[in-house]
Order: sequence, then C-alpha cells, then structure tokens
Amino acid sequence: MLSNKVEKLAESARYDVCMSSCSTGSAGRPGRIRKPENPLSEWIYPASVPGQGTVHILKILQSNSCRNNCSYCKFSASRDDENRVSLSPGELAGSFIKMVRQGLVEGLFLSSGVCRSPSFAMEEMIKTADILRNHFRFGGYIHLKIIPGCAEHLIDAAASFADRLSVNIEAPSARHLSFIAPEKKLSTDILPAAKRTAALLRAKKNGYTDKAIRASSQTTQYVVGAAGESDLDIMTSVDMLYSDYFMFRAYFSAYQQRYNPAAKSNNPKKDSPGFEGSPLLREHRLYQSDFLLRAYGFSFPELVFDSMGNIPMETDPKTAWALMNPGIFPVEVNTAPFAELIRVPGIGPVSAERIVRIRRREKLNDIEELKAAGAWSRRAAGWIELNGQTPYISDEGSKKHSKNVHFIPGQKWLFEELAPDGWKTAGQSTGKASLRNKSYPGQTGKWVNYQFNKSDRKIWCR
Ligand code: SF4
Repeated sequence: MLSNKVEKLAESARYDVCMSSCSTGSAGRPGRIRKPENPLSEWIYPASVPGQGTVHILKILQSNSCRNNCSYCKFSASRDDENRVSLSPGELAGSFIKMVRQGLVEGLFLSSGVCRSPSFAMEEMIKTADILRNHFRFGGYIHLKIIPGCAEHLIDAAASFADRLSVNIEAPSARHLSFIAPEKKLSTDILPAAKRTAALLRAKKNGYTDKAIRASSQTTQYVVGAAGESDLDIMTSVDMLYSDYFMFRAYFSAYQQRYNPAAKSNNPKKDSPGFEGSPLLREHRLYQSDFLLRAYGFSFPELVFDSMGNIPMETDPKTAWALMNPGIFPVEVNTAPFAELIRVPGIGPVSAERIVRIRRREKLNDIEELKAAGAWSRRAAGWIELNGQTPYISDEGSKKHSKNVHFIPGQKWLFEELAPDGWKTAGQSTGKASLRNKSYPGQTGKWVNYQFNKSDRKIWCR
C-alpha cells in the first residue's frame, strides 16, 4: 500500500541529521512533531528556514535500497533483514502534496539510498522535485541530498529545483572514509560534488551565471567515532569546507552501533565490552566548536584540542579556550567591544547584542542585569568585571564572590585557615568552594574558577 511505503521511507530517513532545526536537542538533533491521529506526523520536523521562519518538513527517502555497504548505516546492502521500499517520483510527489494540502507540512527533505547507480538515484529525486515545482506548482522549501558519484549535470538540475543541497562527507579523510564506507570515494566523488555545488552557489551569489539556480546553500554531515578519527581531524576538514566549499554548516552524527551491529568499524574501542558507539557528548562538543567558528568569530587555530587531538569533554570549548587565554580576562562588560563580549563564557551573540543595546542607555551594575540580558550570569561571573568590580553572585541565598586564579604548571593548591610553611596566598575561599577545571592537557598553566564567601578560609599555593 502506498501509505505504508511512504511511512516506511519517512521512518528510514530519520538517520540523516543534515537539516537545520529550530528545536534542536543538545546535540542538534531535530525534534519531531507527534500527532497520534496521523502516523506520518512522527516524521515531520520543525526546521528554521532562512527567510521563512519555522516550517514543518517531511524528511523522507526516495528509496532505502542501496548497493553500498557503509558500516554506520541501517540500509547497507549487506543487511538482509531490512524491508526494501522505493517510491516512484509521481508517488512521492503526490503523497507529499496531499500532506501539504492537509496543512501537515510546508517543506520536503529528500534523500535516497544508492539504488542501481548514483545517477539513477539522483535522477529519481530530481524528477520528484520537478513534478512538485512544475506540475503541482509547489513553491515551498525543498532540500535535496546530492548522491556522490552522480553526473555533474544532475547537480545543476538539483540546484535549479532545491532551496538547499547537501553532500555528506561522512569522514575527514579518504583513509577514514575507506574504513566505514568502502564504495564512497572522497577525492573523486564527494569533494567534486561539493565543489560543483559550491561553484553554482558562488555563481548565483555573485551574479555571473545564466543558469537558473534556486539553491542558496549547501550543508554536510560527518559520522563521528566510527573510523578512529580525532576531533582535530574532523574540525580540520570542517574548516577546509567552510573556507573552500561555500559550506553553510556541518552536522555531526555520533556513530551508534545499534544502526548496524554486525558492521565492521575501525574504531579502536569497538571490541570493548559495552561499546555501543560514540558518546553523544562528543557530538555535542563538535557542534559547540563548530558554532565558535560560525557564530563567534573564532578562527580554527583558536580551537582547543588535547594531546590526542580531541576536544576536552569536561568543559565546553569556549571555556576551554578562555582557560588557555587568561590574559584577556576579566572583560569589562560596560566597555568591551561586541567581539570580546561574545568570547566570555556564558555570553552568546544574542545576549552580547542585548548588553550592547542596554549600555547605550545605562551602565550595567549588577549580575542580575546581565542575567536579564540573557547571559548565563553564573558562568560569566568569573570572567568579567562590572564597572571595575568582580561581580557578586548569589548562591542559595548567600552572596558569594567568584574569581579566577592562575596557577603556574606544577603548582599545588589547598584550602586552609592558616598558611602552611612555604605556601602563599592565592585568594580567599571557603572549605566548600568548588574548584573546577583543574587541569587541561597541553595547557601552560592552571586557571581555576572558584567561588567564596568574603570572610572565609583562604586558598594557598606553592
Ligand atoms: S550509501 Fe551508505 S549511507 Fe547511504 S543508504 Fe547506502 S549504505 Fe546507507
């Protein structure tokens, strides 16, 4: 039955995260809309679309048949327990338009397994988009996945129908990709497809093409943790795509063994008891680091990696950077330029903008005013000054002071009332003071943020 096929292919598309969402979870995963009376509503996603605000998008595959054997994928050819289903372009376009007319969706995200050949799979998707645009006169949002290895003219055709294109890069190098997707070729299939897409987007932006190009951006996706790659490998690749491939943004999908338990993976931890894939926290840290590049004005060399080339897990990437750069703190909130404000842990682009607006009228004097501007005031308190003063923050009704202390490498610290012989003061603290971020691999000093009551015990170091 057609509706069963549509439901199966919409469910099959859930593993592709390469879509902007307005309701991302901590790791940027789309949040689904559930309407019990309609089983397809499970697979409709709210997404932020530039110029259109939030639109509801049906994410679906044209086919879940595939000739490839990607180790991270539920639909690899080696799996014989999957129900293989395909929709013709007419079936898919007709089913989607029905949902549009019912007011269920306003946009389409369309991908496909590589059935028969990359060009065949791409052609089927293009025909679907063509029917929607030219037969049904659908003017809403369409996102098409480019199948690497398809003919170049099909990329041009996809760009003429879709608002956004995406080419999944999957792994940061050809070597890593060969471990997890043996049929996919980075240098001959994936990067050329991303390059062609970038050329079309650039030509449209700069107005030097006579082609009808509707698409205005492209995105990509990495599978994280399946090929033994480091975060440094991934972020190096991401930075290259942003510089050279007109990439709008990257998505990260932590490898989950449950997708394909029988699959071979090159991850050195794959045989350890209980290993079920890459931790979601790693995916989250990659999203945060990516956000520093895209929204906070950080350059790639400023990102912090440990000696193994991974992003520290114990703190967010901006705090890790701040701990490595104590010289620029504390930042005076009432005078610092926007670019400095957004580098303060706890202050993001939106709260920084509000702070700049507020201080045109009046000075900020209190941590509560910072909070009202949308900043994470408790986190920011240790990194800022308000009118030359370290701010007070309230904790469970008591006023506490927050301060950073810089320790040189190898220095020891302790809390005591009186200084032991040979120890000198590093500041005040209570016995309950929380010392965080005690050490960071590769760091030249230890930068500790702690809170203390004004009258209490001291922190000593030697
Ligand atoms: S190409 Fe790889 S990731 Fe895509 S459907 Fe086929 S097996 Fe899955």
